[in-house]
Amino acid sequence: MSTADDLLEEDELDETPEADPALHDYVAGALVQLGSPTSRPAAAPDPRVELMGMSQAELEEFAVHTLGEKSFRGKQLFKWIYQKRADDFDAMTDMSKAVRAKLHGIAKISRLAVAEAHHSNDGTIKFLWELHDGLKVESVLIPEVKRMTLCISSQVGCAMGCDFCVTAKGGFTRNLTKGEILGQVVQAQGYADRRITNIVLMGMGEPLLNLDNVIETMDTAQNQSGLGLSHRKITLSTIGLIPQLEELGRRSRINLAVSLHGSTSAARSAIMPINDKYDIGELIAALKAYPLPNRKMITIEYILLRGINDDVRDAHRLARLLRGVRAKVNLIPYNNNPFTEYQRPADRDILAYQEVLMSYGVHTVTRLNRGNDIAAACGQLGGYKQQRPRTRAAEPETQDEG
Ligand code: SF4
Repeated sequence: MSTADDLLEEDELDETPEADPALHDYVAGALVQLGSPTSRPAAAPDPRVELMGMSQAELEEFAVHTLGEKSFRGKQLFKWIYQKRADDFDAMTDMSKAVRAKLHGIAKISRLAVAEAHHSNDGTIKFLWELHDGLKVESVLIPEVKRMTLCISSQVGCAMGCDFCVTAKGGFTRNLTKGEILGQVVQAQGYADRRITNIVLMGMGEPLLNLDNVIETMDTAQNQSGLGLSHRKITLSTIGLIPQLEELGRRSRINLAVSLHGSTSAARSAIMPINDKYDIGELIAALKAYPLPNRKMITIEYILLRGINDDVRDAHRLARLLRGVRAKVNLIPYNNNPFTEYQRPADRDILAYQEVLMSYGVHTVTRLNRGNDIAAACGQLGGYKQQRPRTRAAEPETQDEG
């Protein structure tokens, strides 16, 4: 007889999207919004050029037009910033003292300040980064046997208003800059005992609403002179903004994960207001037309909410809905938290849901929760510090698979 443990699989298919860690969705929660841009005295503007976040081409242009050097100085800077994680020009010993002195005068390489780093018993590390304006976001580093995954944020807050999402409660503040997106990877690497192999854009925010910065930074992350990640190891998770989704397909080869969370238009609209603008039927049509590179599949994320979308009839509808979409399904049992009324389904209901999908031949994975003891799992992030718990809830339910 199957047990709850049987549900917990690891996706070992390199060619398919890696959609594990902290689902951008409801949890994106990883993402806190402590402080505000006005919570600290305004500092005098720093006229130096920010190099963190620049691509190799931008650094070469900086080297020629701003630094007054040959373009190969840009290549050197790129390697130092992303591969060697240097933030001090004096460490760049393959440049002359005169060049380093010029760099000191006109440029800087900013780092995100680590406000907190929480270590889970399972090895997961949740970071709370402080941005230059005092706002804070989080990333989650998730060690696994064959990979080291970092879940990163793309925005401070989120405007999408998904009802189950802790991040949504705080509203939207601003997009992250390119330096703040790549800075999460560079900083987290310093805490990892091996190279970060996978990036998932599933933290705070809707990545497609910061599309240029996200595409450009993920292109930069693939440069072999820097972070050297494969497009097969980078996954963007979205709730399905159709025009931006189509643009992503035209401009990038990274993996795509789409949050569905409902099997009908009404069910999805009840928890995700975006469905009123881009209906689930239009979204499925867009996914069928999405330009997938060979062997890749779209990951369909589906948060299982007790009594809301976890009935086997939903599973039958979902399986039929996905006919013709090159996709696998990632089931994510909700992580109970004090800020919403939503609840994780019983294990037997999760198993039944998965079995129905599999009976249709749908490749289905039920996501392993990680970092529960440090509130780094889906729906648990940061919001604990940002929101007042509802009176109903006591402590978050302990889940033995975390
Ligand atoms: S789109 Fe925004 S509101 Fe919806 S789940 Fe993701 S972070 Fe939360």
